[in-house]
Parts: sequence; C-alpha cells; structure tokens
Amino acid sequence: MSRTRSVLISGASVAGPTLAFWLHRYGFRVTVVETAAGVRGGGYPIDLRGVAVDVVRRTGLLDRLTATRTRTRRITFVDADGEPVGSLSPAALTGGAAEDIELPRGSLTSALHDITRDDVEYLFDDSVTALDDRVDGVDVTFRGGTHRTFDLVIGADGLHSTVRALAFGPEERYLHHLGYRFTGFTAPNRTDLDHEAVIWNVPGRMTTRYAVGHSDHVHAFFAFTSPPPTAGEPHDRDATLRLTERTFATDGWQTPQLLADLRTATDVFSDTVSQIRMPTWSTGRVALTGDAAHATSFLAGQGTSLAVVGAYVLAGELATHDNHTDAFTSYRRTLVDFVERNQSLALGPNTLIPKTRTALWLRNQTTRLLPLLTKTNLFGHNVTRAATSLSLPDYTPKTAEHR
Ligand SMILES: Cc1cc2nc3c(=O)[nH]c(=O)nc-3n(C[C@H](O)[C@H](O)[C@H](O)COP(=O)(O)OP(=O)(O)OC[C@H]3O[C@@H](n4cnc5c(N)ncnc54)[C@H](O)[C@@H]3O)c2cc1C
Repeated sequence: MSRTRSVLISGASVAGPTLAFWLHRYGFRVTVVETAAGVRGGGYPIDLRGVAVDVVRRTGLLDRLTATRTRTRRITFVDADGEPVGSLSPAALTGGAAEDIELPRGSLTSALHDITRDDVEYLFDDSVTALDDRVDGVDVTFRGGTHRTFDLVIGADGLHSTVRALAFGPEERYLHHLGYRFTGFTAPNRTDLDHEAVIWNVPGRMTTRYAVGHSDHVHAFFAFTSPPPTAGEPHDRDATLRLTERTFATDGWQTPQLLADLRTATDVFSDTVSQIRMPTWSTGRVALTGDAAHATSFLAGQGTSLAVVGAYVLAGELATHDNHTDAFTSYRRTLVDFVERNQSLALGPNTLIPKTRTALWLRNQTTRLLPLLTKTNLFGHNVTRAATSLSLPDYTPKTAEHR
C-alpha cells in the first residue's frame, strides 16, 4: 500500500500507546482517543514479565521502567485474627525471572505517553460513540460531536471496551465471570508498611494493603467471592460501598478500620473479576487489543504483559501486511496460544483468595514451609512458563519498506 494508513486507537493506557508507538515507527498516521481528561496514573503495582520485558527493551524503555521498580521485599499472609502465617518473596508468589519488572502502573502509562505524545495525535476527554465500518474506511462519530474517517480503528479501551460493544456486540457474550469482585482504593499507611504487602484471608475473602515503596499511603484492596453480576445492577460508588461493607461486616482485626478508610477514599474503583474470551479479535476494519480483546483478570497477573506484547504484535503484523485482513488473521494466529496459556493462570487453585477452609489451610501450610522456600518460585513456576511461551517476532527488517 503506497499511501500512509490512518489508525484510530481508543484507549490511552498500556495497549493503546504501545500500539501507537510501533505504528508510528512503521509509518502510520495515529490518533489516540481517551475518555479520561489525561493519562490515568494510578499507582497499583503491575508486572512486566517474560517476552513483555523484551518488548519494552525494543521500545527503548527498559532502563526508565527498571528504575521505577517497586522493590517489594515481602508479602505476608495473616490469618483471621491478624496472626502472621508466613512471608514470601514476590518472586515465590507470582513467579519471576530476574529481569521481570514490578512497577507502579502510572510509571508505565506515563512513560508510554511521553514517548508518543510528540508523534501521535491525542484526543483526551472524548470517546467513540458510533462506528460505520465501510469497505474503504471507518466513519467514526465522537462524543464531542465530530465525525472523522480512518483506515482502521483499534479498541484498546479495556475490559468494558466501547469499541468491542459497537463492533462485536454486547459485553455479556465475551465476559467470563471468575466468581469474585474487588474494591480498590488508596488508604493511609497506618501500620508503617515499607516495600511490602499484607494479605489477610478468611475463606472466600481477602484484604490487602500494599505499600509500593514507603510513604504515608498504601494501595488497599478488598476481594471476595461473588455470583455473576445481574443485568442492570448499579455500579455506582454507593452500591460498591454497601456491598463491600455488607460482605466484610463481621470481620475482625483491621477490617473495620479499612472499611472506614474506604468510606472516605476519593479513588474507589470496583469491578467483577472477569476475563474476556473471544473467537475473533477483528471484524472488517476494526480490531481489539489488550484487555479489550483478552483481559486475564488480576488473578493471572499477566494483563499488562499481554497488553504490551499484543500491541507490539498487532503493529508489526499491520506493518508487514498490505492487507489489514491478513494482518489481523496473522495477529491472532501469532498470539492466541500465548493469550490462552496466560488466561489459564487465573483458573487454577487460587493462592490469593482460597475459597474453602481446606484450600486456605493448604495455602497456609505451604507458606509456613519458610524459610526453606523464600527463594523458591513456589507458586509462580506456571507464571514464568506462560510469560515466556511466545517467541517474539522481530518485525524490524521489514519496516523500511513501510515508511
Ligand atoms: C486492581 C487491578 C490490579 C491489577 N493488577 C495487575 C497486576 O498485578 N499485574 C498485571 O500485569 N496486571 C494487573 N492488572 C491488569 C492491568 O491493569 C490490565 O491488564 C492492563 O492495564 C491492560 O491494559 P489495557 O491498556 O489493555 O487496558 P486498560 O489499562 O484498562 O486501559 C483502557 C483505557 O481505555 C480508556 N477507555 C475506556 N473506555 C473508553 C472509551 N469509551 N473511549 C476512550 N477511552 C476509553 C480507559 O480510560 C483506559 O485509559 C490489574 C488490574 C486491576 C484493575
């Protein structure tokens, strides 16, 4: 194809700007629309593992991101009364090769924005409201009232993707509820946690306080077993608070204080713990990437790595195929096995929120085998295997043809 192809990407978090970076490098004209007023920061820790580390290396961000590593020292499980069960190194819990990087989510999103902001058109505080996918382009209507036409539209707009709803149909078709909900927020660091997390469990319920570094606040988290959401149920802040308070109402130790902190928090976010599974990630001139295509849930801990790798592969396939249909086919063929392996990490026995007394007892007994296992990749060997289960294509030699 001789002329420059234009691409609209919906979503400016991880997958969107990664895709924008590589598409720009391959000579595409890129616009990113983001519903928020700016790049969403949010400091909860995310992980770049396995081939995702190779992608950030190729993107030129390895040193910058490595410098923001959380350097979490330990994760301590405590029982219903707050008595320590044992502590693990993060690598023992979640897997981890030495080069893997746990970092605050905002460090990654702002780095990706920084390296694309001069080359890519960003439209903040706007979103796509209608798509007309024609033979020769996609007519897009924006919430702000403008209409534009692009050669391709890519949804990188997360678990509840609007592009997916517009082009592929209702979310219910693709959302697989994993049996939990979570509520996250920023809380005061009342117990002076320092580069560490404390996880409290009773069967089917968890609270976490995660100190990313050492400061006056922690990332707090309630998670609990829950039936699938019902159609039309409220998702507002009050409904979230009511449900969380009801679920943890009789729990002891520091839970009442954490519930009080939740009531005054200004950044409460809440959702079901779900995956997106789809038989295809493209239709016509529209495709999906990141959580919009294949959310894994935090139980797998691989959502960010998949977002980075998937966006890199999608850009490379578009750069090396003149025909977007072939590119989209190759994109899925290259990634689908990798995605499914990583999604399956969330489906096995659950280390973080064991559902039954027996499962919790087993998790705790394993944890108590310390200090023998502190340096062992105890629960995480499957993570490492899944995170490295793709041979990352190198699209570099072909890029010159596409400039
Ligand atoms: C509580 C929690 C903990 C997690 N922990 C981990 C972890 O430990 N390790 C890990 O690897 N992953 C973790 N994840 C998952 C990780 O955050 C995601 O998998 C990853 O951010 C996916 O990136 P994405 O760019 O595809 O989507 P998202 O990060 O969800 O970004 C989507 C973007 O699209 C924007 N958007 C939404 N709708 C529209 C619209 N209509 N128009 C325009 N823009 C829109 C959003 O504002 C957002 O900026 C966690 C997620 C959560 C919620």
